Amino acid sequence: MGKTKKVELAVIGAGPGGYAAAFRAADLGKKVMLIDRDPTLGGVCLNRGCIPSKALLHISKVMEDATGLAKMGVSYNKPEIDLEKIRSHKNKIVSQLNQGIDRMAKARGVETIEGLASFKSNNEILVKTKSSEINIEFEKCIIASGSSSGMIPGLDSKHKSILTSRTALELSDVPKKLIIIGGGAIGLELGQVYASLGSEITLVEFMPNLIPGADTDIVKPLHRKLTKQFSSILLSTKVKTVKPNKDDSVKVTIENDSGVSSKNYDKILIAVGRKPNIELLKIDNTDIQLNNDGYIDANIYQQTSVMNIFAIGDVVGNPMLAHKATHEGKVAAEVCCGHPAAMDYQAIPSVVYTDPEVAWAGLTEIEAKENDINYVKGEFPWAASGRAISIGANQGKTKILFNSKTKKVLGVGIVGPGAGDMISEAMLSIEMGADAEDIGLTIHPHPTVGETFAMAAEVFQGTITDLYVPKK
Ligand code: NAD
Repeated sequence: MGKTKKVELAVIGAGPGGYAAAFRAADLGKKVMLIDRDPTLGGVCLNRGCIPSKALLHISKVMEDATGLAKMGVSYNKPEIDLEKIRSHKNKIVSQLNQGIDRMAKARGVETIEGLASFKSNNEILVKTKSSEINIEFEKCIIASGSSSGMIPGLDSKHKSILTSRTALELSDVPKKLIIIGGGAIGLELGQVYASLGSEITLVEFMPNLIPGADTDIVKPLHRKLTKQFSSILLSTKVKTVKPNKDDSVKVTIENDSGVSSKNYDKILIAVGRKPNIELLKIDNTDIQLNNDGYIDANIYQQTSVMNIFAIGDVVGNPMLAHKATHEGKVAAEVCCGHPAAMDYQAIPSVVYTDPEVAWAGLTEIEAKENDINYVKGEFPWAASGRAISIGANQGKTKILFNSKTKKVLGVGIVGPGAGDMISEAMLSIEMGADAEDIGLTIHPHPTVGETFAMAAEVFQGTITDLYVPKK
């Protein structure tokens, strides 16, 4: 029988949701224990997701920009790739940030434990560490156990030729022929990384569009670019079978309007979504309820059906995004500490960090049409922006959807370099209830791509002078 510890708050999972929750609660005076099965803090996002992928995408973008300079009169020789050095550069960034979180935990007096946590009751968890088992009696608990890569049924994710986002980011080699299943954020981001390192990419997407949740007009410039970078993009295509060959390659059979066909690839990356990490928590030992989609049910205070147990981030459902988890984590921590906090899902920004970046927030045109929501739009094409043209980003676009009566911002879509940073202004506009006039009258610096946000509002207002829009 292992030892027993008592804590005020146990947080399971040290990703961007879990560590934010733990740190916020510690700052509000709680004695907190932060448990993670990984040896390093930061969860998937820091260790094998958002951060390492951004380190690699930066390299890929600079390579692409350098190639693009040829049109502007500057040419370089073919790049030489030192995979070992790229890997260690990426690992260094991750470890620098790991250490930062570790230091912040220590500074706040948050106790961290490496081990696998499972529930024994509504007040008790068991943590299995490498060397022992610890019973933890908690007053409150926040579940922030995150998610793992989804697999195509029947596939063995441990097979050498099958990559998930986790193994793809390890960058053990650059396959000559790589097939990617899934045209969402992971498939496209990692596809661009591997394409710039020299892989021949085939991308298969089940739906008729890439990034199916985003409006097609803001995905189009990215799609156009990927058509040049990937060897083929197959939309409305189903994967029928994936069979590993003896030589470690895989035979993939697909089906679409052109029929059924099979080809061999060196590796296959499965990027078909993620599933919540609930199984190992043994929540059957508690009274926590799941919803119909298999996620933990949580209210706007992040409380589960057991009032002293909270759940946040990927385990409570989509969108599975770090910033959503962080905000939910802070709400859970504050409610745990008796503060009047609640989660507000009015808008959550999405960014696909490809080149060009695709970002959107709030209402999309797809959702507006599906739900019969009236809107009017203001759009500014980057082809009319001096700054965008100077940096070769003419394909970009900024689009704002306004409420046709109040002229308040309902949603924004942006495509182009830096779109992911620009979307923060859209978020603030939605959060503050800004209308088209507020945005158009906000003096933006010139020349920037950021000013296209104000210009899109001016197009809607009819006050734009950087375009000629005939009167209706
Ligand atoms: P996703 O849900 O974003 O995209 C998966 C895609 O795969 C979808 O377009 C879907 O239609 C397609 N698909 C599903 N099954 C398929 C099949 N059998 N054959 C062909 N296509 C199929 O999932 P993801 O890209 O794996 O990302 C997982 C999660 O991680 C998402 O919630 C995503 O938001 C998050 N994430 C976000 C970012 C970011 O914000 N930049 C980056 C990486 C991951």
